[in-house]
Amino acid sequence: MPERLLLGPGPSNSNPSVLKAISLQPVGHLDPFYINLMAEVQSLLRYCWQTKNRLTLPMSGTGSAAMEATIANVVEEGDTVLIGIKGYFGNRLADMAGRYRANVKTIEKDWGEAFTLDEIEAALIEHRPSVFALVHAETSTGVCQPMEGIGDLCRKYDCLLLLDTVTSLGGVPLFLDEWKVDLAYSCSQKGLSCPPGLGPFTINERAEAKLNRRSDKVPNWYLDISLLNKYWGSDRVYHHTAPVNMNFGMREALRLIHEEGLENSWARHRTNAESLWNGLEDLGLELHVDKDIRLATLTTVRIPSGVDGKAFTSHLLNNFGIEIGGGLGSLAGNVWRIGLMGYNSKVENVEKILEIFDSELP
Ligand code: PLP
Repeated sequence: MPERLLLGPGPSNSNPSVLKAISLQPVGHLDPFYINLMAEVQSLLRYCWQTKNRLTLPMSGTGSAAMEATIANVVEEGDTVLIGIKGYFGNRLADMAGRYRANVKTIEKDWGEAFTLDEIEAALIEHRPSVFALVHAETSTGVCQPMEGIGDLCRKYDCLLLLDTVTSLGGVPLFLDEWKVDLAYSCSQKGLSCPPGLGPFTINERAEAKLNRRSDKVPNWYLDISLLNKYWGSDRVYHHTAPVNMNFGMREALRLIHEEGLENSWARHRTNAESLWNGLEDLGLELHVDKDIRLATLTTVRIPSGVDGKAFTSHLLNNFGIEIGGGLGSLAGNVWRIGLMGYNSKVENVEKILEIFDSELP
């Protein structure tokens, strides 16, 4: 494989010490040393999410597996699930909830906008869902949904709040408990500087209570948290053979964030993103999202008229080994997506991409 600088929507490059950890010989998934490592991973994930949730663990699988796990565990046939769609991944949530036979309702915003509290409250009153699902950091648009007040609304209307934090964990402030988020999931390959392969997952006691009230089994064996908890909790009963090396990597990635300090990591992402935004604007380019809801980990830049966006991304990959993303869905052909996530959120990467945009843009 050629060496690439991954400045797209993910995966991001992994921290070399994470790769070193992954390259160790595996140990048994019930080895006492591994069990100790599992507990460290859980506690460090709680730190990164700012939650005390007991049921916090990395699902074996990518972010979509953890996404599906949140839905599979708490959604029963006929439950009303309200999804806030303001980009590609809201649509994926709606698709998944439908497959678990939920009564899916949606509220939508243009791709590049965020929901207001009034819009959310009106939809909660209209649909009275048992779960409201929302994407915090929409990787398809570069919008960071403001979270203040949403959890309180969900408690007021007695529904669970499910949050996608795939492009925010490690890179953008996240306060799950303070925001009253009941279920959340993420991935390993963005803000955590690991390769793809694990999907952090967490649920609180309110969500667990809904799971315990189910009248049927969780319809997905692999993602059933009550079974998985027998392995990750105190029983240590075999469920599936854990991808132990990925968890070696996850533990090292989380340790590095802890060593840096979560707030320092958030500040680094914000500072580098702001330099990128200023630099792109100095080059005469237009950013797609208003600054107050712009995501530090992923920036959407409008493709200037007359420029072939796809040809430009291929040019960067083929001639500079740099990956940036194109637009998805309604933004296809309209924006480029530049990611500065985890290990790749660095001053030198900002400088490099700005220099290349300056010299190579037609
Ligand atoms: N949610 C969001 C916001 C994402 O950006 C992604 C992937 O980029 C996913 C979910 C799905 O994660 P994965 O591709 O790791 O399965």
